[in-house]
Amino acid sequence: MSRPFARSLSQLARPLSQKPRQLLRRRHRDFSTSTPRHLMGMTGFTETQVTVREAVAAVCSRFPNTYWQEHDQSEQDPTEFHAALAKDGWLGIALPEELGGAGLGISEATIMMQTITESGAGMAGAQSIHANVYATQPLARFGTQEQLHRTIPNIISGQWRACFGVTEPNAGLDTLRLSTAAKVQPDGSYRITGQKIWITCAQVARKMILLARTTPRDEVRKPSEGLSLFCIDLDRTQPGLDMRRIKKMGGRAVDANEVWFDNYAVPADTLVGAEGEGFKIILHGMNAERCLLAGEALGLGYAALGKAAEYARGRVVFQRPIGQNQAVAHPLADAYMQLEAAKLATYHAARLYDASRSDATVQQDAVGVAANSAKYLAAEAAFTACERAVLAHGGMGYAVEFDVERYFRECLVPRIAPVSREMILNYISEKVLKLPRSY
Ligand SMILES: Cc1cc2nc3c(=O)[nH]c(=O)nc-3n(C[C@H](O)[C@H](O)[C@H](O)COP(=O)(O)OP(=O)(O)OC[C@H]3O[C@@H](n4cnc5c(N)ncnc54)[C@H](O)[C@@H]3O)c2cc1C
Repeated sequence: MSRPFARSLSQLARPLSQKPRQLLRRRHRDFSTSTPRHLMGMTGFTETQVTVREAVAAVCSRFPNTYWQEHDQSEQDPTEFHAALAKDGWLGIALPEELGGAGLGISEATIMMQTITESGAGMAGAQSIHANVYATQPLARFGTQEQLHRTIPNIISGQWRACFGVTEPNAGLDTLRLSTAAKVQPDGSYRITGQKIWITCAQVARKMILLARTTPRDEVRKPSEGLSLFCIDLDRTQPGLDMRRIKKMGGRAVDANEVWFDNYAVPADTLVGAEGEGFKIILHGMNAERCLLAGEALGLGYAALGKAAEYARGRVVFQRPIGQNQAVAHPLADAYMQLEAAKLATYHAARLYDASRSDATVQQDAVGVAANSAKYLAAEAAFTACERAVLAHGGMGYAVEFDVERYFRECLVPRIAPVSREMILNYISEKVLKLPRSY
């Protein structure tokens, strides 16, 4: 199943600037000024994945933990970080080469996202680019040539940022009950009315990949019908668009928002794929997003554990390093093994996902089970590692400058989004164990 090493570094870097190659020469440099060396076992990764990890780590090393501490405290967008990754072409890692992307798979995108969180950037770093990497996938697959050439190169170059608008306050995880309506007008354009919530980066995004209902739920045969996908401008100068930033627990550098549409006008050519097929189109990308989130969770967990081990080696109480006490060491060793197991599940799922795109014998159900399991296991392992990292630091675990409190606040996100742990357990109960559907 493993993807052969099909691309040389020069091919891999072709759509990128010279920067990744220059940075690769500094491969022994630490991720950031305050993060200890990486803990994750690298056996089994392809040469391309290792190359991606090293090159992305080199970009991240220019953004030390102090950068992320400050941006978290000031709730300031990490604009420079997004720009640095865009400058070197990383936002196009899984987008087609003909549009300026690198044409790599979700396996490589997952290791990129893991490397970002692991660098100390945490979920804030990942979320500042997540939608640009992920929400552009359905667009790349189902958009018209005109839509692709107009949009994707601008997102890869970092000129435009994207956000993903699915969640609604009155629908929650029951996505098929979303009620934001896109009403077609006599000239073919649409008017959008409704509310989205938790939309990451809406304040800085030029584009929103939006899921809205084009046919009311009571007029379709199945609730999954009548939803449509749009790639719209978030033009704050136009009437009918409003947003409010949500104060949140973690990843505070990156904005999350309530977004209101009130008869907001968008042109006909913002529709992606066929009208009414939006849910099917979104489904194509959901397993990919589970893999990316799993990678993000893993990176956070390894970063926290690295900090905890470093502190436990150096902090002396009762005239011995605290890590000499098995009550401190064993929970950390156990957290490491949980992360390593989740890592295997994550890169197995990503490999399956990539294989399924060219190999019809790889069943979508198998990809779904693997991707959901990976997201669940990685989120739980990250939570365990982050919590134990705070506790291993004692009082200093509560201090901003030691970073683990930030990781702990952020590690709840992969447990909640884009699908909660309970819904994954529901899914495995139903699809694998054949238990009665509970929702
Ligand atoms: C930081 C952050 C960033 C986000 N970014 C985005 C974004 O960019 N775009 C976007 O569209 N969305 C985004 N989201 C939204 C996210 O995807 C949702 O919060 C998530 O899907 C959960 O939906 P909900 O909050 O409405 O929970 P609810 O649906 O209200 O569920 C609440 C709780 O009830 C449980 N529950 C509900 N039904 C069942 C059931 N049948 N069985 C068992 N348990 C059940 C859930 O598991 C959960 O624990 C983001 C969320 C966060 C926190």
